[in-house]
Amino acid sequence: MRPLAEAQRDVLDAMRPLPSVRTPLDGARGLVLAEAVVAPHPVPPFDNSAVDGFAVRAGDTAGSPVALTVIEDVPAGSVPTRSVGAGQATRIMTGAVIPAGADAVVMVEDTDSTGDAVTVKASVDAGDHVRRAGGDLEEGALVFDAGERLSPRHIGVLASIGVARPLVSKRPVVAVLSTGDELAPPDAGELRPGGIRDSNRPMLLGLLEELGAEGLDLGIVPDDAGALRRAFDEASRSADAVVTSGGVSMGEHDLVKKVLADLGTVDFWRVAMQPAKPFAFGFLGDTPLFGLPGNPVSVVVAYEQFVRPALLARMGAARLFRPRSWAVAAEALHTDPEKTVFVRVVAEAGPDAPIVRPAGGQASNVLSALAAADAFAVVPVGVGEVGVGERVEVEWFGSIERRTRKEALDG
Ligand code: AMP
Ligand code: MG
Repeated sequence: MRPLAEAQRDVLDAMRPLPSVRTPLDGARGLVLAEAVVAPHPVPPFDNSAVDGFAVRAGDTAGSPVALTVIEDVPAGSVPTRSVGAGQATRIMTGAVIPAGADAVVMVEDTDSTGDAVTVKASVDAGDHVRRAGGDLEEGALVFDAGERLSPRHIGVLASIGVARPLVSKRPVVAVLSTGDELAPPDAGELRPGGIRDSNRPMLLGLLEELGAEGLDLGIVPDDAGALRRAFDEASRSADAVVTSGGVSMGEHDLVKKVLADLGTVDFWRVAMQPAKPFAFGFLGDTPLFGLPGNPVSVVVAYEQFVRPALLARMGAARLFRPRSWAVAAEALHTDPEKTVFVRVVAEAGPDAPIVRPAGGQASNVLSALAAADAFAVVPVGVGEVGVGERVEVEWFGSIERRTRKEALDG
């Protein structure tokens, strides 16, 4: 068996970067910046008010309450025309330009005003309620480095500096197919004897969508050399990567192996991990092929440990793996010490670290327990038991949510 880390290194070392393209912001979510982004102008672009109120000379408010004369109204988006002198104030809205002469803003709540007279009831210091030009981003500042993956929040920042078409990795097109004579699509009506439904393909397509890749659905392929050859051939020609499930475990892999041997170079590995020990990896021409096992939980684990990091590497991402943290086991975990074991766990907040317990059955076909889980507890080689109250590392694909409306709102 190959150690997991070694297998992951071999996969990542074989990845070649995808080309870069300029993409409008509304299609950039999940893609990875291919170049560093520098702010072409400061954000905010000008000194502006953080509140609705009156722009003043702070010194004038020292002996509050004081009466000042209102010389102008400045809503957001318009520009003041008059400088604020001693004893004067400008009525100003949140986000509007601070007029010359003023150095602070008094909140409207701390004033009484009628017509062009305002009484300031609380004193302010210079700079109060003023948002400085460049206070968020200075002109010329490094905003994001190449390799940053664009979340909606990153997209908001790019918009704030006018980067409307960032240079990002091409969105990878990933062909997905399921192998197995027993498989029926989810909408197949009543199952025939011996048949099961194909859960891997819709699940993989969803995982790819979440990642920011484009899934290419190539359907279910029977365990038949001709059909497999046609499917692998089409997949490798129309996609940047191919992900298959089924047909790589010992009892079965001879057929797939024979077909792949004609089309490219694919190795069949036994990785020291559980689930997902059998795994095929190689190339059909230039196109990487990931041959995942058939059992649905194995599919997710192999996807998370091999496919996702590999696609992120091709996209140029700086961070390839899901976040990990320490947690405390609320129930004992018994695992095979020869393998890196991924235990599906549910998590809750604990006093020092999250508390985790198994989400249900841990066999590799029990997908419902994975849907219930928040994370994988990752029990390393050499450890056969994690006792109650002991630390265990977890890899998060979900999060500790405040699960009910009451729990959330009662704080
Ligand atoms: P295999 O790796 O092809 O030997 O499949 C291992 C197990 O996973 C068998 O029980 C298969 O029936 C099951 N399996 C294979 N593909 C799928 C799929 N797409 N959806 C659900 N179960 C599957
Ligand atoms: Mg099969």
